[in-house]
Amino acid sequence: MIGTSGTAQPADLTDVRTTNLAVVLRYVRTHAPCSRADIAASTGLNKATVSSLVADLLERRLLRETGMAENRIGRPAAMLTLESRPYAAIGLEVGADHLVAIAVDLTGERLLSWRRAFPGLGGTAGRAEAAVAALAGRVVAKLTAQGRQILGLTVAVPGLVTAAGGVRFAPYLGWSDLDLKPALTKALRRPEYDIVVDNDANLAALAEHRSGAYAGTPDLIALIGGVCIGAGLIADGRLVRGGQGFAGQVGHLQLDPAGPLCRCGRRGCLEAFAGLPALVRNALPDTVADGPVTDFAPELERITALAAAGDEVATRALSEGGSRIGQAVSVLADVLDPHVVVLGGAFATLSPWLLPAVEAEVKARAVPGEAGHVVVSTLDPGSAAAGGAALALDRLESGRLPAPV
Ligand SMILES: [Zn+2]
Repeated sequence: MIGTSGTAQPADLTDVRTTNLAVVLRYVRTHAPCSRADIAASTGLNKATVSSLVADLLERRLLRETGMAENRIGRPAAMLTLESRPYAAIGLEVGADHLVAIAVDLTGERLLSWRRAFPGLGGTAGRAEAAVAALAGRVVAKLTAQGRQILGLTVAVPGLVTAAGGVRFAPYLGWSDLDLKPALTKALRRPEYDIVVDNDANLAALAEHRSGAYAGTPDLIALIGGVCIGAGLIADGRLVRGGQGFAGQVGHLQLDPAGPLCRCGRRGCLEAFAGLPALVRNALPDTVADGPVTDFAPELERITALAAAGDEVATRALSEGGSRIGQAVSVLADVLDPHVVVLGGAFATLSPWLLPAVEAEVKARAVPGEAGHVVVSTLDPGSAAAGGAALALDRLESGRLPAPV
């Protein structure tokens, strides 16, 4: 089933009615327009229960009636769909060089998409926290001015994020033990909606699982390239978080103990070969003399232009990076046996030159019977922000419904 994400909270599901409301909501999202009789037939709930649940969801303005259509026995029946107007869910992605904010309505339709340059690499944690809070505040103000109620705000961070919303370690932001969720909650004046902080690759995987080209694939890995490299792992339709919530930190998978020095202090990590700083260093050797890069967007454009023009240094650097990514993908495939590995972030942008080497390496290392394949994300950049917004919608479908208005 599309949209179950491992975020369901069993404690929330003890209330049978809440569970059933969520069942109806999820059914309408995936089958709209549909009638009450369709819902009853497909969910196994009886017709009177469905009518009562639908009345409740109409009152909460989560559903609306779209008109009449003939049902199976030819009688006119009111058709139901999700109500798009009253609500908004927000995802905010913190990158090493950018902030992206995305808001969607209940149907997943994009309401806004903003990108701002952000000195994550050069600024202090306090200033970064203030910048994130300020952008979140502007997005909330814009949406509430439209009369929308905020369902949730999810912040995606490239690093280790605890279940309590603290950032244990985000090396490329210079953050360690930063209590981001409490700080945002305070800065946004303790709002009624949920604020969640999560790892960016986890959220990118949720975005792929909910609305990517392989939406609904139960075993899926999103491998996200950027200054940091992370993987979001979906197994049996659920996000794999691990014991402390730190699963998927594949950027520091050591591929060659004699390889280049990594920022983590070890040698030959995936990131030291195929993270953006490494790709820029190898594809654009002249930038090293210019000092540290803090905004990678222009460098990424230069690499793309050079590679498209057939520049030998750039294409060789990308092909070598692709081989290392392929090495990491084959390790992940051995451990998790995914149906598909989706390359996202900078890996998607650079995929015309990375993917052939990735595929060759994966093929060379595949064990007999391995079926997974590597594809490129078709989602826009900022998929972690989109995944953050999707998480807020998923929480709704796991029973965290807004009160009737
Ligand atoms: Zn490392």
